[in-house]
Amino acid sequence: MIKLYKEGRAWIEINRENLHHNIRILQSLLPSECHLMPAVKANAYGHGAVLIAKELNACGVKSCCVATVAEGAELRKNGVEGEILVLGYTHPEQFSILEQYNLIQTVVDYSYAKLLDIYGAKVKVHLKIDTGMHRLGMDCENMAEIIRVFGCNNLVVEGIYTHLCASDDTAPRGREYTYLQGKKFYRVLAQLERNGYPCPKIHLQSSYGILHYPELAGDYARPGIALYGVLSSRRDLPQAGVPLSPILSVKARVVLVKSLSRGESAGYGLQYVADKDKKIAVLSIGYADGIPRSLSFGGGNVLVGSGIAPIIGSVCMDQMLVDITDIPDVSQGDVAVVIGRSGDREISVYDLAEQEGTITNEILSRLGNRLERVLISGISD
Ligand SMILES: *Cc1c(COP(=O)(O)O)cnc(C)c1O
Repeated sequence: MIKLYKEGRAWIEINRENLHHNIRILQSLLPSECHLMPAVKANAYGHGAVLIAKELNACGVKSCCVATVAEGAELRKNGVEGEILVLGYTHPEQFSILEQYNLIQTVVDYSYAKLLDIYGAKVKVHLKIDTGMHRLGMDCENMAEIIRVFGCNNLVVEGIYTHLCASDDTAPRGREYTYLQGKKFYRVLAQLERNGYPCPKIHLQSSYGILHYPELAGDYARPGIALYGVLSSRRDLPQAGVPLSPILSVKARVVLVKSLSRGESAGYGLQYVADKDKKIAVLSIGYADGIPRSLSFGGGNVLVGSGIAPIIGSVCMDQMLVDITDIPDVSQGDVAVVIGRSGDREISVYDLAEQEGTITNEILSRLGNRLERVLISGISD
């Protein structure tokens, strides 16, 4: 059964079956003992963190990770269960939120471990090891400090992890660097064991790590972008070689249809002028909803009625204009597809990313809070 969303000015539809499909595919690449700990940071890459995390819970995924303590608290307030790992730095003033909402904090370096230790209450943590990204984490060469964290009485060390920074690159340089990161990480684990410390749960892979280096699987894997059924750029698809399905569609209402005579302008700045008599539609979605302004002036299209309508003029904050001169069957109240499929046509997030000169992650994670997220069941088109 297809459940169509009937109200609203603009919204995001999340396809439940495709999400389940992607979970199955990612899990199938990993040993069954390796559990998915999906990244639902940045509002689940724009998809709606609460909706996605609850759906993950519903299909048996018991862990997820977020970037900030506030994101973790938001999930808990909305009934999300299981482990929630905060990947980023949490200010000491906010340590109580970790405790209040049963969140796991990343230890970003040794001095931070000491801050967490003197907070007073027991705090669950995963240690982050820097194996070459040079972002967060304790230097993998500094075993003395890593070991000292295990001596912090108030830290309950449940996990240890690293982040691969070149796993998307399958050329020799990227492969060598990734294997080197893996080697450095395993060396830390071996030294911990040699010194008698119980080895906590381990994890290294994000999406590209799972796709390109399934052999690096640990106790968890942290897929983000791939869970949402896309990769960062279209050119990575052949190499990844798995049939992921995008789960998000962005739709907007046609609020007006009007005629434009040859020579009349439309939109801000008199920049678009009709070169012949035209029919245009006003859509209630704009750049404040995350639609890039680089789609202006024909840089992008939407699917409406039975056709493809180019965006004309510049994308406004809350609205945009499209040319429907050649599409006969468009009227007020219709729904336009800004990202997604209609019949056998598709506008993909890759199309928007390429036009904007960025990766899909950025387009998706910038989708605005005004867009309501709705879960749909069935094959939608
Ligand atoms: C965002 C993030 C992920 C997920 O990355 P993807 O490339 O989207 O799969 C995993 N781990 C860490 C530490 C992250 O910051």
